[in-house]
Amino acid sequence: MTSPARQEHGTTALTAPARGPRQLLLPLAIIASGATLAIAVQLVFDPFRTHIPLCVLNHLTGLECPGCGAIRSVHALLAGDPLLALRNNALVTTAIPLAGIGLVAWAVRRSRGLRTNLLPSNTVLLVLVGIAVLYAVLRNLPMFWFLAPISYVGG
Ligand SMILES: [Zn+2]
Repeated sequence: MTSPARQEHGTTALTAPARGPRQLLLPLAIIASGATLAIAVQLVFDPFRTHIPLCVLNHLTGLECPGCGAIRSVHALLAGDPLLALRNNALVTTAIPLAGIGLVAWAVRRSRGLRTNLLPSNTVLLVLVGIAVLYAVLRNLPMFWFLAPISYVGG
């Protein structure tokens, strides 16, 4: 009996990848969904003036996780204030354009009929997790106060 991975590999080796403008639909749908969600959040509330207890770690311990301030960061980016976005979550602020570049590269490769493995290698994954953990540790240290998100709630 062959493993599912081996069967899948055999199947993918026999079929040619589709190509053409229709291959842009999935990447465009992902980009449109993300943009729609971000704009909807932008229109519904101001995360700088509304306390949204989304983070369990922050709620229970007061510590900032790597994602704390992400909504405020996206909100600031959409408002055209990249410095405020960086101030609230530098990790997310730098990840958004990189993810956008990756999505565009993936869309171009798909339209040309080239396969792209969207899952990063274990090494890349370890480096990304290491960066996120380091960022989480640093933003909770007093000397790196500028990495912690800001809020105008109650201020
Ligand atoms: Zn958090």
